[in-house]
Amino acid sequence: MGQASRTTKLLLDLSAREEGGANSEKRGYLEATVALLNRARAFYLDFFLAHPAKLTERVPVTSKTTREEREATISTDQLLTWAEFQTVATQEHPTPMTGWNFSQQFPDFPNRYRRSVIKDSLGKARGYLTAMATWQARGKKKGKPGLPAPRNHPTLYDGTHSLELDALDLRHTFVRLKVFTGKQWRWVNYPTHYNRFFEKRRTEPGWEMESPKLIVRKQGAAVHFLQTKEIKAEKIVESKKNPDVVTVAVDLNVKMLAVVTVRQHGKIIETVFVRDHGLDQHRYQHLKQIARKQWQSGKAVKGERSNQDLWRHVKRMNQDAAHTTAHAIVEVCQKYPGCVLLFERLRKMKQGAMSKSRRLNRKQANQLKGQINQVSKEKAYACAVVTVEVNAHGTSQFCARCGARGERFSIRGSQANKERGGKLFRCACGYVVQADFNASVNVHHSFYQEWHWQPRRKKRPHALSG
Ligand SMILES: [Zn+2]
Repeated sequence: MGQASRTTKLLLDLSAREEGGANSEKRGYLEATVALLNRARAFYLDFFLAHPAKLTERVPVTSKTTREEREATISTDQLLTWAEFQTVATQEHPTPMTGWNFSQQFPDFPNRYRRSVIKDSLGKARGYLTAMATWQARGKKKGKPGLPAPRNHPTLYDGTHSLELDALDLRHTFVRLKVFTGKQWRWVNYPTHYNRFFEKRRTEPGWEMESPKLIVRKQGAAVHFLQTKEIKAEKIVESKKNPDVVTVAVDLNVKMLAVVTVRQHGKIIETVFVRDHGLDQHRYQHLKQIARKQWQSGKAVKGERSNQDLWRHVKRMNQDAAHTTAHAIVEVCQKYPGCVLLFERLRKMKQGAMSKSRRLNRKQANQLKGQINQVSKEKAYACAVVTVEVNAHGTSQFCARCGARGERFSIRGSQANKERGGKLFRCACGYVVQADFNASVNVHHSFYQEWHWQPRRKKRPHALSG
């Protein structure tokens, strides 16, 4: 039993009012809300960091089943209650801890927002203190963890938002949000770009809604709805015993992003090629520009990110490619319920002699591979498909048909030149095939531990006793 999660974005319509969107005033409220929550988060972050001992306090707990008493670290909920007691003025407890009067600094702050901010700060403070302790234990000067930033996207607990759905007309859907206008807290309606895709995901059976997040960016605003689903998937050892099991293997590459092969009963029954449609070349051009700019302006200033827009563009392109490719991979998996998805264990990138822009591009391509792997894994798991990473050794050097060592080559003019990373693969057995396809088929061999990938017999330890 496991849990899959996913996020569905609902864009808010912030275009001019005449065009059906919210006006700039309403947009301003969102920004004011985010800013105020950030300030509140900074307050609680400081508060927790000023009381580090409290976060690791040992408290007695009574077991629900055995009624036994034992000691445990203070829980998040207990800390939340404690923090509220110390900082919030109530009728029974009108004077909070000196210097930490939240009610005075943040009047009328909605308690749902306050709770989400406290929990968030608590997580940040705990993470920082743990990192600090590890750093001190290591006793080295380098790698001192920096203070956590109080910025974050607001989490919308129940009572701070509601989705108003007009079942008959999806175009008239809006989100009601509790926002800060700069003077006071108010409920405001925000029109959305609601669509059928969102509606389908929202109502899909099996998916549970979690607290959404409000994302405000320069270009627009959105509410990200997080959903989780309980997954029952067969264990790999069980699947492996099933003679009818289907395996879906993926070979990830640079230009041919993914070669997906499906195998059942020892035969390849389907193949899907996912091309990059010029992404590698496009990215290379941008990175060349970035490298040139950096060279012209000298060394990049520490802490200042040069070429931010270009980097963002490159990152976005990679993200899009990762999602599209993962989608194509999972689409194949969905045709074979109960199948096992196979990836090669990712290799470390080798540093070769090449220009800066080429090196940057290789790095990006490698990151893209990692992203495709990650996103596919998540998407597949939501369909109860488990992913296995197999030994990648030799998948591109050995023949997928006979198991002998072959070679990669490319055809230049009319000549076949043997070269590393060539597009084609040939073997002495007469097999000539697209090299990435050959590698993809070998991923299955690696999973089933055939030929080159047979389990190594453990070396017997040297006889000690004679
Ligand atoms: Zn062969």
